[in-house]
Amino acid sequence: MSETQDCLFCRIVAGEVPADVVAETEHSLAFRDISPQAPTHALVVPRRHVPDAASLAVASPDELADVVALAARVAEGDGLPGYRLVANTGAAAQQTVFHCHVHVLGGRELTWPPG
Ligand code: C5P
Repeated sequence: MSETQDCLFCRIVAGEVPADVVAETEHSLAFRDISPQAPTHALVVPRRHVPDAASLAVASPDELADVVALAARVAEGDGLPGYRLVANTGAAAQQTVFHCHVHVLGGRELTWPPG
């Protein structure tokens, strides 16, 4: 099985696995997280398969910028006064899906350290 056939987010991008899509561009897709940790919890993924945000920065800085800009559009669409972007990177940081994604979290009081 190829890397992308095996990748859940590639399959969502391809429309093979259903997702609650909220916004998209030519390069990126935003959809609601299946297990929301806040009233707004969306994931923004590049259509291109790379394992994490740093890899996308190397492969295509413009596509990483597109992900961040789409995250802002999702937050604006949900009327958030502020929001948090999270890019868990590596298993030790609780990354579980190894296709670059940014969490967009908001709609409740967000604490720091992260919570
Ligand atoms: O950063 P991490 O890799 O842990 O995030 C993966 C996210 O993908 C989780 O928040 C999980 O709830 C979400 N997910 C999803 N739809 C799926 C499988 C996982 O939104 N079908």
